[in-house]
Amino acid sequence: MAEHQFQTEVSRLLHLIIHSLYSNREIFLRELVSNASDALDKLKYLTVAEEAYKSISFEPRIDLSFDKEAKTFTVRDNGIGMNETDMVESLGTIARSGTKSFLEKLTEDAKKDSNLIGQFGVGFYSAFMVADRIEVISRKAGETAAWKWSSDGKESYQIEAAQRDEQGTAVILHLSEEGTEYANRWTVEDIVKRYSNHVAFPIYLTYDEKEYDGKGKEKGSKTKTDRINSGTALWRRAKSDLKEEDYAEFYKQTAYDGEDPLFYVHTKAEGTLEYVTLFYIPQRAPFDLYNVDYKPGVKLYVKRVFITDDDKELMPSYLRFVRGVIDSEDLPLNVSREILQQNKILLNIRNASVKKLLSEFKSLSETNKEKWETFISQFNRPLKEGMYQDAGNQELLKELVRFKSSSAEGRTGFADYAARMKPDQKHIYYITGGDEKTLKASPLLEAYTAKDIEVLIMDDDIDDIIMPSVHKYKDWELKAVNRAGADEELGAKQDKQAEKENKPVIEKIKKALGDRVKEVKLSRRLHDSPSCIVADENDPTIQMAQMLKAMGQPDMGDIKPILEVNGDHPIVAGLKTAEDEARIADIAGVLLDQALLVEGIKLKDPADFVKRLNRLLS
Ligand code: ADP
Repeated sequence: MAEHQFQTEVSRLLHLIIHSLYSNREIFLRELVSNASDALDKLKYLTVAEEAYKSISFEPRIDLSFDKEAKTFTVRDNGIGMNETDMVESLGTIARSGTKSFLEKLTEDAKKDSNLIGQFGVGFYSAFMVADRIEVISRKAGETAAWKWSSDGKESYQIEAAQRDEQGTAVILHLSEEGTEYANRWTVEDIVKRYSNHVAFPIYLTYDEKEYDGKGKEKGSKTKTDRINSGTALWRRAKSDLKEEDYAEFYKQTAYDGEDPLFYVHTKAEGTLEYVTLFYIPQRAPFDLYNVDYKPGVKLYVKRVFITDDDKELMPSYLRFVRGVIDSEDLPLNVSREILQQNKILLNIRNASVKKLLSEFKSLSETNKEKWETFISQFNRPLKEGMYQDAGNQELLKELVRFKSSSAEGRTGFADYAARMKPDQKHIYYITGGDEKTLKASPLLEAYTAKDIEVLIMDDDIDDIIMPSVHKYKDWELKAVNRAGADEELGAKQDKQAEKENKPVIEKIKKALGDRVKEVKLSRRLHDSPSCIVADENDPTIQMAQMLKAMGQPDMGDIKPILEVNGDHPIVAGLKTAEDEARIADIAGVLLDQALLVEGIKLKDPADFVKRLNRLLS
């Protein structure tokens, strides 16, 4: 038997693992299973690629077993195996340069931070969290000698000759006090299903099941072996091998949805970054789509090993309805939450995935009207959030979002609008701040309708918040018709003469309303109605301020509207000759209040409005 000292870094690493990762002990099983899976992969490759190994007959498998009495837990594989030299290099040193330099960088304080330590694969040594002694018995493929490595995980390890009938490795853990809970069938099954369900090779668990006689009396026990992983990892299979039903079945199992998905996007990236993504779009918006603490739908795997299903950073929040899997070849296994969020590899995968999804949505809109209608009826609103959140993809998102329109039924996109624009039309017009009926009845639309200019009807409550961040579609500026400055194309109705003629009546109204309004103007956009309100170009609209307040945002104070009046309307014409101050005040007050009401804005003092109206009527 030969006694070896651990490389100093290994001793440090062991110390760190045992003292920092104990809150997450169960990961030892994930690490051992993934080592076994790697060993099987390596041998499988050799038996295909190298003449010398082709004679090895080999049915790759991983076997787990435990012995409650002896307090042992064993992970066995028939993979590539290790000889004496391999053991010294792999289980006595830290070969990976990344881990070494990471250890060097750790400050005293950081050592206490288990999340930080979790960023590199702690690997084999993590088994010392649950074992006070480990034996590894291994025989390398193509060799006849077998070796036993053993250690208590402190300063040294021993290597001696051993016996093993076939190639492969058995890792035998002598469970410590903390580790005994893992000598349990259900615990093991649960951990394997959680982390290693999609490992490509079959994982078997051997356990004893008690047997009872007819009277319910224990009459002994029987040893059983069950396969406990499903091993599908469907996303890793070639698209050409998979049928629609396979995709749908996998979706229903993993996303807990009773319905088939609406569609899926399966992508394999090779090159600088290697990863596979399989995304699903549900038929229906998930029930928690509008909850702040929604459950993310995308799971992260590293080389088929499950890492997390609870990371909101894997996808931007506006794509929170997407379900599926990201499986990376390049991330370390034990990547922690904090590290994930600033991880460049993951960021690149995310960016590419978002682009891919958005362009798939776009092509759906062009190629499959029926599915597209279902899609947009469910997810239009989150995509609108995207226009606000994701400046980098705003152009793509503008091609996807849909609105109602003053001149077309159903949903209209910016491109549809542009195609219908009048040849000399300069801008794209929209109106926000109310439900469809209110908006369509708004006096603000009159002049546009009269001139046959289409206006997008934006009746979603978030439109008001989002649209100010969307300035253009292609070369056309977007103009809200309820804002000052959106009326220049309606100019014909206004001329210098009219301005001059109406100046006195405008002054009269302004004086009567005082500080209830920001300004009073002669309108270019009114046809039949006597008055309307608009917001100053840089002010929030009143509706928006009311909505933000309802959402618990700080009060934006009193936002004063601009009142526009129609100089041709009989009420305004009547005002021109009116002399009685009280009557002028009543008429001006009603002109303002009815303009507010028709936009669906609650009056501050409805009683005052009613009094004025009654005085005028009598
Ligand atoms: P990692 O797997 O990240 O390289 P580990 O500490 O888990 O780090 O394992 C160190 C090395 O030990 C592996 O790279 C591999 O060469 C070897 N090894 C571990 N388990 C096995 C196994 N079951 N069969 C063959 N080699 C193994």
